[in-house]
Amino acid sequence: MTNPPTPATEAALLSSLPTGLYIGGAWRNASDGGTLDVIDPSTGRTLLTIASATADDGAAALDAAVAAQQAWAKTAPRERAEILRRAFEAVTARADDFALLMTLEMGKPLAESRGEVAYGAEFLRWFSEETARISGRFAMAPDGTSRLLVMKRPVGPSLFITPWNFPLAMATRKIAPAIAAGCTMVLKPAALTPLTSLLFAQVLADVGLPAGVLNVIPTASAGAVTGPLIRDPRLRKLSFTGSTEVGRRLIADAAQQVLRVSMELGGNAPLIVFDDADLDKAVDGAMLAKLRNGGEACTAANRILVQEGVAKDFTARLVERMRAHTVARGTDPSSKLGPLVDEGTRQKVHELVTSAIADGATLALGGHPIDGDGYFYEPTVLTGVPAHAGILREEIFGPVAPIVTFSTEAEAIRLANDTPFGLVAYAFTRDLNRGLRLAEELEVGMFGLNTGIVSNPAAPFGGVKQSGMGREGGVEGIEEYLETRYVGIADPYAEGLG
Ligand code: NAP
Repeated sequence: MTNPPTPATEAALLSSLPTGLYIGGAWRNASDGGTLDVIDPSTGRTLLTIASATADDGAAALDAAVAAQQAWAKTAPRERAEILRRAFEAVTARADDFALLMTLEMGKPLAESRGEVAYGAEFLRWFSEETARISGRFAMAPDGTSRLLVMKRPVGPSLFITPWNFPLAMATRKIAPAIAAGCTMVLKPAALTPLTSLLFAQVLADVGLPAGVLNVIPTASAGAVTGPLIRDPRLRKLSFTGSTEVGRRLIADAAQQVLRVSMELGGNAPLIVFDDADLDKAVDGAMLAKLRNGGEACTAANRILVQEGVAKDFTARLVERMRAHTVARGTDPSSKLGPLVDEGTRQKVHELVTSAIADGATLALGGHPIDGDGYFYEPTVLTGVPAHAGILREEIFGPVAPIVTFSTEAEAIRLANDTPFGLVAYAFTRDLNRGLRLAEELEVGMFGLNTGIVSNPAAPFGGVKQSGMGREGGVEGIEEYLETRYVGIADPYAEGLG
């Protein structure tokens, strides 16, 4: 177990970070000298002030990506694979620094940040291994008169826009397959948590990623900087992770250039507990699916549906477990729950809780912001939440578990699917046939059966309905950065044997 960080360790890490924009392999200030303050959500105080990109800086970043694209696409797969493998090793070697940085800028407990370093780094290793397996096919046309050569080409310069909730993994999940495929990139990280991306860019430069392949432009003016890039015909791909509301607007913008898009958007995950479930496993799974990342995850269990026969027992156990969860700054070794990311997020969570109570829900635990520094909120359980309550319709993004009871499997499926979102669902049951029926009936991109976590770099992550389009991770993830080119070849025997 590593020693808890001291204020001196924190200060040393922060003072070692690059604070500029990373464009064309060099660090530079914003063209207008503008800056952006990165805040520690556990204190509300500024951690570091960094450069904030302008639209001109965005254009320079795309210029650099475009200039690097042709040579990068021609590199040997093994060369790109080796860069990714070295990046995996370098991030793993600096796991303590990455974990501390994420805890400082995003708030989650250090143990969870270490988990994210392992998860985020694994995309580098996974796609390092996939790089050499990009291939096409060769076939004879059905009528025998020609040959069909199908090859894969990198899509080209890509823009990535990422959220604040997983500062490392949401970036590596895009950057690693793009490097594998031979694409160059511009990354615009979330304004709340850009520091991890800056450290990651530095690590990639150290392990030999050529200048211009990755350009990183934190900014306080997201739309003004990315809008012109999305409208620029040299950009070939937009990959976005964030809210459905912003995703919808970006899809509309991208339509002007018929730009290829991948969208990892919001969720409203049901977690269903049946009477026949192993309740210990179900409570463990609910804790993980609800409180991992402080509930600030697209995969967070947003609605806990419990069958009538076990509702009382399950609720009592969940309340006890959530009551025992220590709320503290993420650097405190006792911390199981850090602050929410900012005051706006905390206010939204509290509004959803108070309006659910006004709608008739009962407060079984918590239900209040915690006084003092930072944006902490009590672990909260609500029971008897009516179907029309906003808390069951919107992403909560906080440590709040709304419990709803149901009587039959058909009712559970109907309730689970009653949402425009379709990212993930979880169910706990000992009946394998029921588990398989749910896997077929639930309208989601991912389904966890007797588990509260599905994220895995070797698996395709993504949603259906308004949770998005495209997949990240798995053998599928690299396809987002490849396009298919078909070459028709005349019949080599048309003129007889030579
Ligand atoms: P968000 O508000 O949609 O922001 C996401 C990113 O988009 C940030 O970098 C943000 O920049 C940028 N952005 C905002 N408005 C923009 C605009 N008009 N033009 C271009 N970029 C813009 O989401 P968030 O609050 O950061 O993250 C939480 C959301 O992400 C949740 O809905 C969650 O479910 C979703 N999420 C989904 C997945 C998934 O894989 N499906 C994974 C993680 C999170 P600023 O930081 O400057 O606002």
